[in-house]
Amino acid sequence: MTAPTPLIAGNWKMNGTGASIAEARAVAAQLDGRHVRVAICPPATLIQRMSEALAGTAVLVGAQDCHSEESGAFTGDVSAEMLADAGARLVIVGHSERRAGYCETDELVARKARAVVRAGLEPIVCVGETLAQRKAGKALEVVTGQVRGSLPRELDRKPYSLAYEPVWAIGTGLTPTLPEIEEMHRAIRAVLRELFGDDGDKPPILYGGSVKPDNAADILHAAEVGGALVGGASLKAEDFLGIIRAV
Ligand code: PEP
Repeated sequence: MTAPTPLIAGNWKMNGTGASIAEARAVAAQLDGRHVRVAICPPATLIQRMSEALAGTAVLVGAQDCHSEESGAFTGDVSAEMLADAGARLVIVGHSERRAGYCETDELVARKARAVVRAGLEPIVCVGETLAQRKAGKALEVVTGQVRGSLPRELDRKPYSLAYEPVWAIGTGLTPTLPEIEEMHRAIRAVLRELFGDDGDKPPILYGGSVKPDNAADILHAAEVGGALVGGASLKAEDFLGIIRAV
């Protein structure tokens, strides 16, 4: 089976106003047509404007979260269908900041992933262990358990990706060693094959957690690493492009 097309996705988190769309335009303007998919996931307030600004370019616009229902009395929430209507093509679900800060369980993450597929969009399903879990020797068990619990069967034959993001590596400047990254990505691939058979080879498995232009090449060329989910370094076009060029 040929390797999945790598995906480099930027997660802007709660950063950015209309003026920041210039950074996204600068990324789009300098893409050099290499074999990579590029996405930027701005705050929900910018999705529509960014989609319009990037129309006709190779940069996809994504969202950072969604509700699991299509519509209803859920004050403050946004459904996957609304994100699609605003121009989003991908949706991050299960980011550790949502798992930790909003008590999101694997079961809820799976329902959100199902909602993303229902809306015709592509989920990026995040998993990752805490430092305490890694120190206790439980990283593989925790992460493979999250993969099993967070992927609905509706993903079968649909485009999606996994993002392995150790919680302790996000925004800290720390990263696992390359053998640790490879061990985890291989374990995730084995679970995908167990769940989806040969189709489990199709989704790219992204690494996320303090990816920067200077460590991107090593990480992106590690075994089973099919791209990156990038937080801080996606906010500035030059940094994000440095990571994209490392593919
Ligand atoms: C993230 O939040 O998904 C992330 C990977 O952040 P950072 O790159 O800043 O560590």
